Amino acid sequence: MVDSLEGYSYGALEQMLSGAGVNPVHAKPLFSAVQRRLVSKNLSVAEGILPPVARWLSTDEAPVLCPTEQTDCSPSGDGFTEKYMLRLADGAEVEAVRMGFPGRFTACLSTQVGCAMGCVFCATGQMGFSRHLTTGEIVAQAHHVERGLRESHGERLRNIVMMGMGEPLHNFEPVMEALGIITDNRGLNIGPARVAISTVGHIPGILKLAHHPKRYSLAVSLHGASDEERGKLIPVNKKWPLADLIGACREYTAIKRARVFFAWTLIGGVNDSKDHAFRLAELLKGIDAHVNLIPLNATEGYEGEAPDETNVREFQGIIQASGLPCTVRQRRGIDVAAGCGQLKARRLSKQ
Ligand code: SF4
Repeated sequence: MVDSLEGYSYGALEQMLSGAGVNPVHAKPLFSAVQRRLVSKNLSVAEGILPPVARWLSTDEAPVLCPTEQTDCSPSGDGFTEKYMLRLADGAEVEAVRMGFPGRFTACLSTQVGCAMGCVFCATGQMGFSRHLTTGEIVAQAHHVERGLRESHGERLRNIVMMGMGEPLHNFEPVMEALGIITDNRGLNIGPARVAISTVGHIPGILKLAHHPKRYSLAVSLHGASDEERGKLIPVNKKWPLADLIGACREYTAIKRARVFFAWTLIGGVNDSKDHAFRLAELLKGIDAHVNLIPLNATEGYEGEAPDETNVREFQGIIQASGLPCTVRQRRGIDVAAGCGQLKARRLSKQ
C-alpha cells in the first residue's frame, strides 16, 4: 500500500525521488514543507518546492498528503484540551487529542482503527478491531494537532503519547516509523524522551522495543495484580500472563536502563482497595518502576464506577510507602470524553 506523503522519512523521500529520476537533494525542501511547515495542500513552487519535484508530485505515481478531515471537535471548558475526530481516506474515523498547559502541550495519537485487545472498560475495545493505521495516518494526526495549536495558542507540541485508539505495539513498524519522523529534528523535532508508548502488555512488542535504537518512555497498563483479576479487565492477559509480562518489563529495564511506567486504572469496588495496593507493590518489587493511578473515566459500555477519593489517596500512600514513585493522573479532558475511544463511542451511541 502506498502511504501518504507524511509517512515518508527523510531517507525514504530521498530514495523515492531518486527512483523517480529527480535529484534526491530536493528531499530537503519537500520534507521541510510537509514535516516542519505542515503545508496541508497545494504542495507547489509557491511553497518552496522546486519545479522538478512539483512536476513529479503532479504525477499519478507520487504519494499525496493524508486527507484528515475533522468531523468533530470537543473543546474542554478550560480551552486547553481538545479532542478531534478525524476521517481518513477510506472513511474510517480515529481520534487525536490535544492536552496539557501552555508551554507543555501533548498530542495523544491513535495507532489503529478500533482495537483487538478488548479491554472491558475501554470504549475502543468495545468497538472491535478494523485495521492498522499507516505511518502517514499516524504522523498526520500529530500535524493536525500541531496546526491547531499554532493557530490557537501560537505554540508547538512538546510531547507525544501513543495512547489513543489501538494498541501501539500491535502495529509496531508503522508506529516506530511514525515516531522516527515526528522526532526528526528537520520536522516536528520532538525529543524521543518526550514520547510515551502505552501498551496493555503486548510482550513481543515490549521486547522489540527494548532493542529499538531510540529510547521512548514505556507505559504498561496493569489494572490487576493477579491473572484472575487482570484477566477480567484485560482479556489478552490469557495470552500474555502477568508473570511473563513483569518478566518482559524487567528485561526492558535491564536492556534500556530505563524506568517503566505502570498504569493502574482505579475502578470503584473492583481494584481500588488497600489489599490491591499492597499486592501491586509486591508485584513490582525490585523493578525500576513508576506507578500512575488513573481514576476511571466511566464509559457508556462499561458499568464500572469512578473510585472514592479516599481510596485513591490511600492506594497512592501504600505504593509510595513501598518505595515506588506514584502519581494520580489529573482527570483533564474528562468533560470532552478524552479517555481512549470515548468520543467515537458517544457518537455511535447517538446514531
Ligand atoms: S485500553 Fe488500549 S489496548 Fe485496551 S482496548 Fe482500549 S485501546 Fe485497546
